[in-house]
Amino acid sequence: MDSVYKFSPDRIPAVQNREPADKKRRLDELFLELVRRARKAPYFARKLEGLDVNGIADIAGLPVLTADDYTRNMYPYSNALLTTDGFHGGTVSRTGGTTSKPKYAVWGTFDKDAQIEASLPLLETLGLSEGDVVANMLHVGNLYSGLLSIEFEAFRMGLTSLALSVVSPETLVQVWKDFKFNAMVILPSSAMPVLRKAHELEPSFRVEKVIFGGTSMTAADRAWLRSALGVKRVASVIASNDGGPFGYQCEHMSGNAHHAMDEYSFVEIVDEDGKPVPDGGEGRILLTNLHKHAVPLIRYEIGDVGRLVPGRCACGRSDRRLEFLGRSKDGFILIGNTTNVSEVKSTLEPHGITELQIVIEQKNGVDQVRIRFAAPVKIEAGTLMDSLNERYGKLEAGHFTFEQVAMGALPRNPVSGKIVGLIYNRS
Ligand SMILES: [Zn+2]
Repeated sequence: MDSVYKFSPDRIPAVQNREPADKKRRLDELFLELVRRARKAPYFARKLEGLDVNGIADIAGLPVLTADDYTRNMYPYSNALLTTDGFHGGTVSRTGGTTSKPKYAVWGTFDKDAQIEASLPLLETLGLSEGDVVANMLHVGNLYSGLLSIEFEAFRMGLTSLALSVVSPETLVQVWKDFKFNAMVILPSSAMPVLRKAHELEPSFRVEKVIFGGTSMTAADRAWLRSALGVKRVASVIASNDGGPFGYQCEHMSGNAHHAMDEYSFVEIVDEDGKPVPDGGEGRILLTNLHKHAVPLIRYEIGDVGRLVPGRCACGRSDRRLEFLGRSKDGFILIGNTTNVSEVKSTLEPHGITELQIVIEQKNGVDQVRIRFAAPVKIEAGTLMDSLNERYGKLEAGHFTFEQVAMGALPRNPVSGKIVGLIYNRS
């Protein structure tokens, strides 16, 4: 039987392989249709009033949709962002802690269909191919959409998907023995501790491909997947709960390097005032989902930082290159240095750190920084302090404490499974 999805014979799906003129035509067409629909929503009707939009080149003249604008006008508390009279079917996902007010993302039937459609060539590019058996280890429930999306997509691709979510190492090993899955889709913070234990239980446990998203993966974890599990391809996908997937790693990429999904969710990099930053410069990421019609997201500020890298990737794909620098919300002042959790993590990563949490407490008006971390080997506090000094200049060691915890022991957000990267205990 033919699978529903046709894998690309040359390994580069058509949407990632367009000539510049063809790509511009496609982006113009998608953007104009999106704007036409958006004008039907009361919020956008007001914000876009009198603006002349003729193509994607005009995008920078449109107002930014901040996270605050979004939550203030969010369905079901308001109908201001709906392009139709009421919400007529589709699906809902959410972000936000278990205690804070939820932030809902509403997808119409067309919108969700378009997301799945765009994710098929995406998953192929991330390494999936005909005949793969996929262990789907993303989260599910609490309006969390990760596992369900992968489940639909693997099914559409004609693959076998095993909806495991978060399981015990024993269950994982049993299912691997029974079905010999060769690929996994994981959230590193919840899956890596399970994979390490599974490998202890069953040293012959091997997997060819790992696709991960939701959180970053340290170089130490990547190296371990290759050496211990024999993984040949490790690829990252970046997505926002509200806007869907927007970045992926081709076979030439690792670390922060990604391709933008130009024809699905158009990325812009802007400064603090929403003005475009020239290519190569760092700034805030804005997403315009070109296929989300029920509740449009146009120039939506997702709270992440990145930069567009000029030039074409060695793989030949026409999708632009995006260096993804992580959450701007994780930003803090480290004894006089502006930084963020991802940056501290990448500074300490060469020592073998796999998980990290920063706790900032105040004593007599002075910040005390406690760095809690997990690593497969014992790491001396002194060597970590040396790396921090190298990166940030002379720091006073007296302001820092380091605490090594067991692998997998750092607290996770119960809904998303992500490690809480930064905690302020300022009284
Ligand atoms: Zn590439």
